[in-house]
Amino acid sequence: MILTIKCAFCGGTGKDPFELLSPVSNCLVCNGTGLTEVEEPIRKCIFCAGSGQNPLGARVPCIVCSGKGKYHCDSITRCKQCNGIGKSGDGLPCSRCGGKGLSSCRE
Ligand SMILES: [Zn+2]
Ligand SMILES: [Zn+2]
Ligand SMILES: [Zn+2]
Repeated sequence: MILTIKCAFCGGTGKDPFELLSPVSNCLVCNGTGLTEVEEPIRKCIFCAGSGQNPLGARVPCIVCSGKGKYHCDSITRCKQCNGIGKSGDGLPCSRCGGKGLSSCRE
């Protein structure tokens, strides 16, 4: 089942939240619709805390959830390498779980 959720990166406005190109440019995550689709079961992105924005500072979508703030994962097992926080010591996504904080998520 695929759910339509509000785009986290632009907060559902459909506009580029950082106005990188111009104030009227469309959000690159949802293509201006303000909505994104994620397949169930859906988890809130632990890497960006659901904001959809890259916590590393660049004004770009989160590399783990692609800016949606959520992702599909059918696993509830915490990643042993990062202990479920999705980050490695240097702040980059955990190499084992890809930043999702859960082990063996399937795309
Ligand atoms: Zn958007
Ligand atoms: Zn994210
Ligand atoms: Zn991990």
